[in-house]
Amino acid sequence: MRSPNLTKYLVQLLLPLFLLLMSSASSADNKAKVLMLVAYEPLFPAAHEFVTKVDQALSHKLGAEKVHLQVAYLGLDLGPDKTSIELQTQLLKLQYQRYQYDIILAVGDAALSFVASQRQQIFQQTPVVFLDIHDAEKVNQLVGNLPLTGVMNTPPIYELFTFLRILYPDKKTYYFITDGLPQRAKYFQRVKNATHSLDVEIEELSLARYSWQELAGKLAQLHNEPIVLLSAFIDKNSEQRRLTQALKFLSEHSASPIWSLDTPGIGLGITGGMVNDYEASAELASRQVTSILAGTSPDDLPIHGHPPTHPLVDAQQALRYGFSLAQFPRSTVFINQPPSYWQQYGRYGMLALGVVVVILALLVFTFLQAKKVQQAKQKLQRRLLLMQRVLDAIPEMVFYKDINGRYLFSNQAFESITRKKPIGCTDYELFEQNLADLFRHHDQQAIHSASTHVNNEWVLDVNQRNCLLETHKTPIYSEAGKLLGILGYSRDITALVQTQKELEHIVQHDALTGLPNRMLLLQQLKSAILEARQEHQQLAVIYLDIDRFKDINDTLGHTIGDLLLKDIGHRLHNNIQQFDVCARIGSDEFVLVINHVYGYQQVQEKCEQLLAVLARPYSIQGHLLSIYASAGIALYAEDGADADTLIRHADAALHMAKHLGRNRCHRYTADLTEGLHLRIALEQDLHSAMESREFFLMYQPQFKVNESVPLRVETLIRWQHPQRGLISPVEFIPLAESSGMMVELGYWILRSACQQLLFWREQGLLLEKIAVNVSPVQITHSFANDVARILTSLEFKPEWLELEVTEGLMMSDTQIINDQINQLQAMGVDFAIDDFGTGYSSLSKLKAMPVSILKVDQSFVRNIDTDQNDFKIVQAIIQMAKSLKLTTVAEGVETQQHESILHNLGCDLMQGYFYAKPMLADQLYETYYPLINDDL
Ligand code: C2E
Ligand code: CA
Ligand code: CA
Repeated sequence: MRSPNLTKYLVQLLLPLFLLLMSSASSADNKAKVLMLVAYEPLFPAAHEFVTKVDQALSHKLGAEKVHLQVAYLGLDLGPDKTSIELQTQLLKLQYQRYQYDIILAVGDAALSFVASQRQQIFQQTPVVFLDIHDAEKVNQLVGNLPLTGVMNTPPIYELFTFLRILYPDKKTYYFITDGLPQRAKYFQRVKNATHSLDVEIEELSLARYSWQELAGKLAQLHNEPIVLLSAFIDKNSEQRRLTQALKFLSEHSASPIWSLDTPGIGLGITGGMVNDYEASAELASRQVTSILAGTSPDDLPIHGHPPTHPLVDAQQALRYGFSLAQFPRSTVFINQPPSYWQQYGRYGMLALGVVVVILALLVFTFLQAKKVQQAKQKLQRRLLLMQRVLDAIPEMVFYKDINGRYLFSNQAFESITRKKPIGCTDYELFEQNLADLFRHHDQQAIHSASTHVNNEWVLDVNQRNCLLETHKTPIYSEAGKLLGILGYSRDITALVQTQKELEHIVQHDALTGLPNRMLLLQQLKSAILEARQEHQQLAVIYLDIDRFKDINDTLGHTIGDLLLKDIGHRLHNNIQQFDVCARIGSDEFVLVINHVYGYQQVQEKCEQLLAVLARPYSIQGHLLSIYASAGIALYAEDGADADTLIRHADAALHMAKHLGRNRCHRYTADLTEGLHLRIALEQDLHSAMESREFFLMYQPQFKVNESVPLRVETLIRWQHPQRGLISPVEFIPLAESSGMMVELGYWILRSACQQLLFWREQGLLLEKIAVNVSPVQITHSFANDVARILTSLEFKPEWLELEVTEGLMMSDTQIINDQINQLQAMGVDFAIDDFGTGYSSLSKLKAMPVSILKVDQSFVRNIDTDQNDFKIVQAIIQMAKSLKLTTVAEGVETQQHESILHNLGCDLMQGYFYAKPMLADQLYETYYPLINDDL
């Protein structure tokens, strides 16, 4: 009878298989086709494990797209009836016809038997790989008839004994539970056989002899004994129990754990045992399948009689029986493993750990905090120390007092200057009453002004030396604005003040004479005027200038000039009252302020006395010198009400005194300023004169005696002023020199004169040379080059040019002037000494001068016929010049008398009104060119 349940099951089981086979047939064409026939129902754990493992292994080895695995669960282990087998067979046959499998994988004894039985009908010679086969005899029968190989499920009996021996090292007797069923008897026999080679006894607890209860009773007696379950299905009373029930019952009663050789049952009451490794077996079978698919004959692939094994243990059970998991071999696979200590107590562990961490953190925090405080203290200490060092490094005194005036800190300088340790003391405990009062007063000033207060305080230092302190006192407030104390800073300014005084003196005094300079003069004059005004008194300003002082400088040198000025200053200073002033305001210019004067007469007398004092001879470095001075006088208040005016007016008066013939004094009059104003205006006009072409040149010829045509000419400049008419060079040349215009004007004169000579020559008036006057200021370091450039540009021969320079210039003996003159002389330019005899040069020095012409000054010529002295001087000059082979030219030859005397004395050339006055170029040409032709 077919049970309706079973039919239903078969439909459920096989219909999907059928449909699957149908649907996947086409898609499996190019793939390796494997039919896996599983003896068990799909829900059997081992069945599922085998299928999953084989699927994975084949996909892995061949590639998922290269293999088509078809699984058929036969459910044969449940003892199916004929009908269902029939149905299955038909299905498989059907499917086999349209779908030729490359290989059959039979799992379980029943599956292999099924394949063997259906070989003729369905499977033919298709290779077979088997898995999970206990029946070794069956396999032996098939080998040779079928292309067959596979993996046996041989119970790992020996391995089990090894396993038990580890757990029960002292036990010699092993208990085996059996039930006397025929197929299991065979199994038990194998176990017994195995013990022959082992040193153990087997005691069989067979349900064929005991009832379930009796067996339970037996098991309850066995404490800590090795017990193995082979099979337990039916007792001596034929009472059957399903596997799970049986296992539950036995394990509940047994005093010792029950072990097994099979996976099923372990975890359901069986404590553990030695079992074949399903995964490893499936892997081995899959490998064989792959090899066969690759072309290997199944006969060449050995059957695996002993698949890999491993101990499998229900950890909970093992622990219940007092085993520790560490007792089991390393390869043991545990199921029902109790949660590990960590898993069980992890939460508490975490909590505890958390608490520990928090405590630790708190400890560390506290430690760090303490360390921080410690470090902060040290840092503060170091800062304070550093601050003290810094303060001590300040060379000035630094200190701080609280509101009661008590010193809270001070620096090294304070202690070393005052020799006092002030900390904790007040000024009254440190200094004398007066000084302490003063300091207290200054503190109060700073507090009242609520800002830095600076005071100068005279104190006695350590060496009882008076020293001046500049003290800065600053009130210090709290953040809330409350006064805390006074910060003080003092520096010793004694030396500074001294230096300032000295500097002031230097700034206000003339370095050479030590007399007040213009600055101090003005200051003192102003206060003198103030006083005079208040007291309704007169005062006099005397402007004094040394006559021809420049010549002394030029001829005797600056050293002597300076010594002379010093002497002059001395004499002046010694001859005035203490309350009078004597200042030096220019090189040879002095200004005196004479206080409390009564009328001009008195001043004039005083002034003349001073001039007389100055006129007394001076003995300086072996030279006996005498000089004269001129002076201008201005009286307060008649000649001026303020210092500037008085000085200016005295200066104007001085000029008049000089004009009147020097060595005299003159009082200011209103008309003098007009002349002065004129001079200033003239200087301004000079600047535009050049552009306006107001300058022109005149030429004065020089003759040899008895010749009507001039040999040379001297160039003399003129200024045709638009308002003032013709102005003499004597008037404007000094202005051009002092205003810096002379250099430019000089080159214009030179170029024009040279051009004129060339022009005359072209016109047929052949002159030997043209003389050009040169002012000393023209001779700068570029003079020779500039002259050379002018001559070259005009193609003017240097020999045609004669430059007239003054005697003083020739004597000055400065490097630049010598170099420039030598350079031009080397080119062929002649030099003449102008106005010879008026300067201080001695005849003996003439030798050294780089000149070839000597012009005798007209002042000697003027009275040469009447003044024996002048005659002798000119005679000496000409004789000396002759011996030096110099050409002599006499200036200012106005009469026949002059000419004949000079001629007799041997003078080479004559220049003067007797021959010709200076004339314009055209006039000169018209005058002399006809005479040349006449001569011819
Ligand atoms: P200096 O070089 O001694 O020129 C001679 C001066 O004597 C000229 O005056 C001339 O007119 C004048 N003189 C000529 N013969 C007689 C005479 O027989 N009797 C009198 N009493 N005087 C006579 P000037 O032209 O007024 O020149 C005056 C001074 O101006 C010159 O004196 C010279 O030092 C300067 N000077 C003139 N022209 C120039 C110039 O182009 N450059 C420079 N640096 N100085 C010049
Ligand atoms: Ca001249
Ligand atoms: Ca002259």
